Amino acid sequence: MKTYVLKDERKRELKILDKTLQKVGRKELPHILHIQQVMLRAVDEYMSKKGVTRIMPIMIAPITDPLNHDVEECELEYEGQKFDITRSMIFHKQIILSSPYLDKIYIVSPNVRFEQEEKEDKRHLFEFTQIDFEFKGATMDDIFKFQEGLVKYVFNYIKKECADEFKALGIGTSHLDVTVPFKKYTTQELQAKYGDDFEETASAKATQPFWIINHKREFYDAEDLEKPGNYRNYDLIWPYGYIEGLSGGEREYKYDRILTRMKEAHMDGNAFRNYIQLAKEGKIPKTAGAGFGVERMTRFVCQQKEIDDVTVFTRKPGKTYLF
Ligand code: AMP
Ligand code: MG
Repeated sequence: MKTYVLKDERKRELKILDKTLQKVGRKELPHILHIQQVMLRAVDEYMSKKGVTRIMPIMIAPITDPLNHDVEECELEYEGQKFDITRSMIFHKQIILSSPYLDKIYIVSPNVRFEQEEKEDKRHLFEFTQIDFEFKGATMDDIFKFQEGLVKYVFNYIKKECADEFKALGIGTSHLDVTVPFKKYTTQELQAKYGDDFEETASAKATQPFWIINHKREFYDAEDLEKPGNYRNYDLIWPYGYIEGLSGGEREYKYDRILTRMKEAHMDGNAFRNYIQLAKEGKIPKTAGAGFGVERMTRFVCQQKEIDDVTVFTRKPGKTYLF
């Protein structure tokens, strides 16, 4: 009896094996990968022109981003110490900028987030790469200008360099004609207009990227002390229904503010004791920054149905993975 079950399981696995190779062998893939490669080159160029220093990624650390939504635990043990796999480098970014010699940094940062199965929604992967940047002394207006400049630079670059690839994919490039500055809306005004699915609805109606500001989320995004209960943070939304492409904020950096916000979020202060110690000593500088997903940008640029269409191997939640 058992062998039959095994046989069935094996059959299923061999089918998935087949599908895996079909995914690797799609004729669209080399065009998508080429466009992504040019996109990353343009991002690096823009960062260099703006004097932003590239840092190599940290992939495991004793603390990582607590995030604003639940993901499954993903811990490792090494030399008797517990490590999390990087969900984002937010704390590392803040600590790097404690250096008097570094003001603007970015990381092409692999993130692992064991997203729950319900996140199988066309835009979540359980591992992805984000371009994560942080600037000392910056305000949200500085980040808006910087990112708008980046999007414009990168999209113009791709349009110029990748005409053949777009033709091969059978898509136009008018979605890459962006006008800056992008419009800004608060979460509250969009929610009042469109209800709880405001991001999806507003994105579907839009033909230009836009900002949504003022989200209540992770403790490290700064509260507006002149307007308590409001937050100096932002998401960049890709239009035509592609939804969130970037999140960022001005950061909390003062000891009492960090403690207050961590308490509000019911966080384990002990796990963050060394981060808190740095804040107590006034060593965390005032910064603002953001991170945007590479695969999400590639998906928008290449106008693909779902994020899984731009990766070589399936990394969307709720599947069986052979490689
Ligand atoms: P966050 O600060 O958590 O919003 O992450 C920064 C950016 O990374 C997001 O705006 C997305 O572009 C991208 N991102 C976050 N989570 C995922 C995911 N599970 N799969 C793909 N991209 C993601
Ligand atoms: Mg986000």
